[in-house]
Amino acid sequence: MTNAPPVEEKPYKILFEGARCFGAGKCAEVAENWGMDLSTGLGSPKTYFLDDDELPENVRAAEVCPAKKDAGVIHVVDRRTGEEIAPNPDGDGTLSLG
Ligand code: SF4
Repeated sequence: MTNAPPVEEKPYKILFEGARCFGAGKCAEVAENWGMDLSTGLGSPKTYFLDDDELPENVRAAEVCPAKKDAGVIHVVDRRTGEEIAPNPDGDGTLSLG
């Protein structure tokens, strides 16, 4: 990921397990930042870096994503702490990747 904006401007980032997305499109229903890539049929974010205003809809997208048996493949991470904000099924701030 190149050209990352300063953490102060965009304190949050998206980690997207695109290989596990199956194109359900739920993310695109709840978030302007998410759309469907017509060439791949998979979800695709317009930006990977978020400010406070952009955070809530991306948290919603992370929470509604049904991939990986509902665990979700969209992860929203606080760049300052490295903690996962959503979907974070264990609630302990660790990344729920894999
Ligand atoms: S909701 Fe999840 S599985 Fe569905 S398109 Fe978005 S990222 Fe992919």
